[in-house]
Amino acid sequence: MIVILFLCYGPLPTVLIRVFERGISKRIPEKGMALTFDDGPNAEYTPQLLDLFKKYDVKATFFVVGSNVKKHPEIIKRMAKDGHTVGIHHYDHISSWIMSPFRLKKQLEMTEKVITECTGEKVSFYRPPWGHFNVFTLAVSKRYNKIMWSNIFGDWKVEKAKHGLLNELRNSLKEGAIFVLHDNGDTLGAEEQAPGYMIRNLEIFLKECKQKDVRFITLKELKE
Ligand SMILES: [Zn+2]
Repeated sequence: MIVILFLCYGPLPTVLIRVFERGISKRIPEKGMALTFDDGPNAEYTPQLLDLFKKYDVKATFFVVGSNVKKHPEIIKRMAKDGHTVGIHHYDHISSWIMSPFRLKKQLEMTEKVITECTGEKVSFYRPPWGHFNVFTLAVSKRYNKIMWSNIFGDWKVEKAKHGLLNELRNSLKEGAIFVLHDNGDTLGAEEQAPGYMIRNLEIFLKECKQKDVRFITLKELKE
């Protein structure tokens, strides 16, 4: 009985929402593509990424963990100053499957607050950790646009970030795509050194994109 209740609370709504794309976006409606990053900020890797974007004149979107924002507010300030979009990825990296609607609401509010303190901007985007929804998520998070992805690469593992990632990035390049990558290896199931390898391969990819004139969209541009 408990198992059935759990499935109906978390995994089942997640599958339905994702398969039928109800209340979420997996692609952007414009020409170009969006680079998005989850789980940061990280003191070592996120500034490296921001340097890279500056160098290649790319604007991206970061779904940040509120407790990490609290530790590194200066990184979030820089994201805003550099023109990137900052969205919510919960205050703690916890699955919505094990959260009550009240706790989920609190997680969203706390993260929005720490982000706004750094950016001075309204927070409009949300991506739940692991892409997990529960039956209440869409109601509780209705003020935000829920952004999923068209392509996910497994870059949180060193082996993948080192080998294979670059070719997958190349092969996934398509109008409207939303890529999800990870600038922090501290989360459950991830490997600490993985973002370093991801960044190396991303640089090669960005260099190639520059020659092809690929347009990178940061999500806040979509609202206008
Ligand atoms: Zn995550």
